[in-house]
Amino acid sequence: MYQDNSFAQSIRFIKGVGEASARLFTKLGIHTVNDAINYFPREYEDRTKVKKIIEVMDGEECGVSARLVTEIAETRPRRNLLVTKALVTDGTAYLSLTWFNQTYIKSSLQKDVEYIFFGKAKRTGMRIEMNSPVIEKADRSGKTTGRILPVYPLTKGLTQAHVRNLVENSLYLVKDKLEETLPEDLRKKHKLGQVKFSYEEIHFPKSFTNMEEARRRLVFEELLLLQLTLIRSKGISSEQKGISFQPVDMTPLLSKLTFSLTNAQKRVFEEIRTDMESDRRMNRLIQGDVGSGKTIVAVMALYIAAKNGYQSAFMVPTEILAEQHYRSVCSLFDDLGITVSLLTGSTKKKEKEEIKSLLKDGKIDVVIGTHAILEDDTEFSQLGLVITDEQHRFGVRQRAKISGKGENPDILVMTATPIPRTLSLVLYGDLDVSIIDELPPNRKPIDTYAVDESYRQRIYNFIRKNVAQGRQAYIVCPLVEDSEEIPAESAEGLAERIRDNELIGLRVGLIHGKMKPADKETVMRAFVKGELDVLVSTTVIEVGVNVPNATLMVIENAERFGLAQLHQLRGRVGRGEHKSYCILINQSRSEISKQRLEILASTNDGFVISEKDLELRGPGDVFGVRQHGLPEMRIANLYRDMDILKEVQEAVKYIMSNNLLDTDEQYRPLAERLDSIMNEKFREIAIN
Ligand code: ADP
Ligand code: MG
Repeated sequence: MYQDNSFAQSIRFIKGVGEASARLFTKLGIHTVNDAINYFPREYEDRTKVKKIIEVMDGEECGVSARLVTEIAETRPRRNLLVTKALVTDGTAYLSLTWFNQTYIKSSLQKDVEYIFFGKAKRTGMRIEMNSPVIEKADRSGKTTGRILPVYPLTKGLTQAHVRNLVENSLYLVKDKLEETLPEDLRKKHKLGQVKFSYEEIHFPKSFTNMEEARRRLVFEELLLLQLTLIRSKGISSEQKGISFQPVDMTPLLSKLTFSLTNAQKRVFEEIRTDMESDRRMNRLIQGDVGSGKTIVAVMALYIAAKNGYQSAFMVPTEILAEQHYRSVCSLFDDLGITVSLLTGSTKKKEKEEIKSLLKDGKIDVVIGTHAILEDDTEFSQLGLVITDEQHRFGVRQRAKISGKGENPDILVMTATPIPRTLSLVLYGDLDVSIIDELPPNRKPIDTYAVDESYRQRIYNFIRKNVAQGRQAYIVCPLVEDSEEIPAESAEGLAERIRDNELIGLRVGLIHGKMKPADKETVMRAFVKGELDVLVSTTVIEVGVNVPNATLMVIENAERFGLAQLHQLRGRVGRGEHKSYCILINQSRSEISKQRLEILASTNDGFVISEKDLELRGPGDVFGVRQHGLPEMRIANLYRDMDILKEVQEAVKYIMSNNLLDTDEQYRPLAERLDSIMNEKFREIAIN
């Protein structure tokens, strides 16, 4: 990364690092000097405070500078227990110190030498004590006391002292060689510290103000590099040659629909059509709120591919969803001369083999399925289009794996979790984004109520009333079965109870993730056909399930779900012509959970909800870092650093629109840094 190779040097050559500790550092991802200086503290311990003993308060963490008053006493009250006691003073008062099983204390403390003792004080009347304080000679203070100490993430076998020593010595070696990649105008504009200052102060800060300033710069830099890299790789992938599909007359398909497309659907379809017809490879994300009608837009893309003689793969995260898409795609494609197959984990072995051989011979146009499509022996004769639905359940790697089954097939990703714009740039900066920002007409907003347990009887009456009108209801529980540890409703427990009591006489079904796929399928079908009135379930019905006659969604222990997830669940109703309702039962008394659920009751807009959810819980929880392929970050924390991220996005706009990376001499170090990151990135992809 840097010209100077001290950065690439193995930490094995750093003073104090032996073979054994080097191996442990490897576990932390530290191989080189550069890794070491980029291994950032998790938090800091303030050991700056040194006080007079007389002023020390009960419970206070601080240091005192004092000398021994008496000989040190060691006692062994029990086997395996050594108690070491000392009395010290600084002239203002006495302080009693105690250590447990610290054999070296007695020999290391000398009379008439001044030490700093740092620890948590206990004060009862005039008696002042400290247990297990840290000791340092006063004239050498500054190593572990009298300063702000970094606290690093550790692994078994390593101590803070090991890591501090490594970082300190590594930094000493290269601090004057650190190259400034952020141009001065940018640093001024965004008030960012210099590189050397930032590395020194993030590890060994002279003050908390300095540390904050250093952190700000390093976070800014990390996010800036991330965003610029994404934009550059988007540039590269959009230069990739893809298939130029021929224009297709859509009338035969559209005339089969019972509705006309919304303007948003038309606009997004035009964007897809343009991508598909151009010789660039399509890499597009469709975002749209729950129920905005993403599926039909995807089906239109499948149609173009099939009519061009190409095969398509449509991947979804659950079998329920795969089956549902399969049914609706079949009903549209059957008499249009397009063959469709379903391939999931529960497809029978013999059938699977047959489907795979037909796919290989090019006899199937569209395959809809789950991860089963990714199996190594699934081969295509002419794969031209890959669609993944509910992308947040698939990793980036899986996306890459399936597209590897053809030669640069076009890629369409659909996600139902609306993502705030700021974050979508971080997550999907390498994709073009289309947004379906309009719901089909006549969708009535779903009336949502956040209630507590006292409403239970009224809720059951309401379910009965809806069922009497011919409608159906979902009841979602957080658990599959009753648990001793977690006090929450379980689908099994609740179904059993209401079948025999509150909802006796109604047809109550049960579905959850631990059931066999075939059994799930049977229950789901019965619910679709209206043979069940109430479906008690877990979040297996979260994504995509479409039963327009279901108008009531009851969620037990709603406080246990994320807002985005509740919004998804709520999206299972309000899919037909009937007025729909969502009832969130809040079993928690906390004010915050009440507030969170009120947000859901106050809006039906998924973007607003995900923005608030993000504020309340942070992106890791909202999207699941790994599921989303959120890039790993060394120092930035998207939740805490949202403000910096916004500034970075401004800076990126400024840099890109003025083409500074290519034209401005000041930006050359940044451009070179990006080039080397890109080289590494593409080497990684080549290896995978
Ligand atoms: P999502 O975007 O959540 O995946 P779907 O594609 O499942 O939504 O669509 C939800 C429902 O809306 C389906 O029943 C679908 O047939 C219907 N739908 C889609 N587009 C329209 C439209 N333009 N007008 C009326 N109904 C539509
Ligand atoms: Mg969908």
